[in-house]
Amino acid sequence: MRRLLDAIREGPLLGDGAMGTQLMLAGLEQGNCGEEWNLTHPERVLGIQRRYVDAGSDCLLTNTFGGSRLMLNRHGKGDLAPAVNQAGVAIAREAFGVRDGFVIGDIGPFGGLLEPYGDFTEEDVRAAFTEQAKALVDAGADAIIIETQTALEELLIGIEAARQAGAPCVIGSLAYDVTLDGSTFRTMMGVDPEHAAEFMQEHGVDIVALNCGTGMDMIRACHAVERYRKVTDLPVMVQPNAGQPKLVNMQVTYDETPAQMVPGVAPLLRAGANIIGACCGSSPDHIRAFRAAMDQL
Ligand SMILES: [Zn+2]
Repeated sequence: MRRLLDAIREGPLLGDGAMGTQLMLAGLEQGNCGEEWNLTHPERVLGIQRRYVDAGSDCLLTNTFGGSRLMLNRHGKGDLAPAVNQAGVAIAREAFGVRDGFVIGDIGPFGGLLEPYGDFTEEDVRAAFTEQAKALVDAGADAIIIETQTALEELLIGIEAARQAGAPCVIGSLAYDVTLDGSTFRTMMGVDPEHAAEFMQEHGVDIVALNCGTGMDMIRACHAVERYRKVTDLPVMVQPNAGQPKLVNMQVTYDETPAQMVPGVAPLLRAGANIIGACCGSSPDHIRAFRAAMDQL
């Protein structure tokens, strides 16, 4: 089995699309715990990931975005953390079947603010991320992604947890928001891409990434890759949303079509993106269109 970092050197890889919005389509109610489905409805999670594999994904993120003990505690399910994460890796591996593919263990934000801004101590968050990373790595994840991060303090705790768990590859991924005047983008906590990339390189991340965010379409994502590239030679991963969230019938929807997103694939590759996937609102159809565009180049 090739390592993810070796595979990247041979050529760009295709990631997957959204999990959250796909879980909703599969019947998950808003506010319920989608990660618990790894234990209660594994066949539905498997179905979603199989569709991404059929669409051509080389990498799958595990269904463990909110799988840290702190996030699961919101549903009174904190003790399920190890099992939820182990099952998440097993389901993604099963989705590849006999095909070669990379399982990226997903760690999302812990869902609060660190002291002194919030109620959580660094030790709380470190314990939760370490437990989650260890479960993902022990179950055989090829990499860990610390994603949708906005603060470097929390990102660093995640990076260190992944390293301590022995992750073969660590990916740090930030969520940028376009500023009101549209001139640039930075995270909610004010971090710009150059600073983030330098910080991640300094702390031993293997792949620098961006995902989600507000107003970060394929063109903005391309600008982010260029800004990363200016300060680091590390591989880059990109997962933009399928457009802007809109509230329709009290449901958050995203409406950028595969045809609208796919012209952004070639510029991303030219800018030096090594893994391209998509975030909120994207579907297997988006990934299939990305696959076609990547294979053409
Ligand atoms: Zn997203």
